[in-house]
Amino acid sequence: MKKQTQAIHLAYKRPDAYNALSFPVYNAVAYEFPDAQMMSDAFCGRIDAPDYSRVENPTVTNFERRVEALTGAVHVTAVNSGMAAISNAILTLAAKGKNIVTSKHLFGNTFSLLAFTLHRFGVDARLVDLTNLDEVREAVDDKTCALFFEIITNPQMEVADIGGLAEITKSHHVPLVADTTTIPFTQFSAKDLGVDIEVVSSTKYVSGGATSLGGLIIDYGNFPRFTKTMAGESLFNFGAYMTPQVAFLQTIGLETLDARYRVQSSNALELAKRLEKLPQIKRVNYVGLEDNPYHELARKQFGKAAGAMVCIDLESQEACFSMLNKLKVIHRATNLFDNRTLAIHPASTIFGLFPPKARQDMDVLDTTIRLSVGLEDVDDLFEDIRQALEK
Ligand SMILES: *Cc1c(COP(=O)(O)O)cnc(C)c1O
Repeated sequence: MKKQTQAIHLAYKRPDAYNALSFPVYNAVAYEFPDAQMMSDAFCGRIDAPDYSRVENPTVTNFERRVEALTGAVHVTAVNSGMAAISNAILTLAAKGKNIVTSKHLFGNTFSLLAFTLHRFGVDARLVDLTNLDEVREAVDDKTCALFFEIITNPQMEVADIGGLAEITKSHHVPLVADTTTIPFTQFSAKDLGVDIEVVSSTKYVSGGATSLGGLIIDYGNFPRFTKTMAGESLFNFGAYMTPQVAFLQTIGLETLDARYRVQSSNALELAKRLEKLPQIKRVNYVGLEDNPYHELARKQFGKAAGAMVCIDLESQEACFSMLNKLKVIHRATNLFDNRTLAIHPASTIFGLFPPKARQDMDVLDTTIRLSVGLEDVDDLFEDIRQALEK
């Protein structure tokens, strides 16, 4: 079956008692066993049967199996946010005295986790320019427990050369961990590009219109110790497993993911092209535009569509605030890949508590507005921005 058919039809290993077409929400904490031996077998992992919903639940397993089928992963773990996916994956790999090679161009909380939280536990973040492979090669050593990166950074829109990074990590036997939130995993194969562990905020594209928070740890099985520790230790000890209600919503989200992505990414490209013609906009930063420095690399890695995140630069922070305040259709809100178009000024919000110097180092500019383009008619979106920029 092709991916889209699998996303809709993939069956759970056991049929529902009533043959419900949508897999039911098993809102149960515990599961009864016919005898003590089977109970022991389930608890000790000798048979595959749920025993307690902090670590296994049929509705969540159904969601995980679909993501496994769509990505070719050996094991997928669904957790309750994108940050839970990142922190659980990293805590499974890290240990005192080790280092993580990464970049300053990261989602704000991820940066804080790697640079500040982990530092307290004796794990160092080595911040390098991931577009400079020589710099990366020099930073990786025998104490490196992971190379962590985002496929398209936000709001800088830097695209990583995944094959180049993978060559370095493979030669050092270091796991390559990618946050692939910005392009759906149905659109490209992170595994084929050399990623060992993929983390995703399923709050974004997968959830289906911002219905719920969620995260995915997609493991391609190249580091057996990671697979084993994740399933036998992290899942139990960190307690971040997804809830069945969320898995239900996100399974439905998965079914419409590609259809939504097609519309959102084509809306984003059309809007980016039209915005380039407005004199108040100094720069439109979107990898789908042919003159973007990362256009070719993005196309090679992720295919024709370049996602629904578009950044624009105005003259000043005041101009950004003024535009945001005049929007009538587009919502002033954070989040990405909602059905609605959203706009935010990252420097004063997501990165607002970082000192100005730290923001500067991260290339988060006071003049940038980030747009997450939704499913509306693109004419209305363009008109809204056009009128909001008028004096
Ligand atoms: C939103 C986001 C996260 C965090 O996800 P949550 O579900 O909000 O915890 C991590 N990485 C990227 C790239 C994101 O956009």
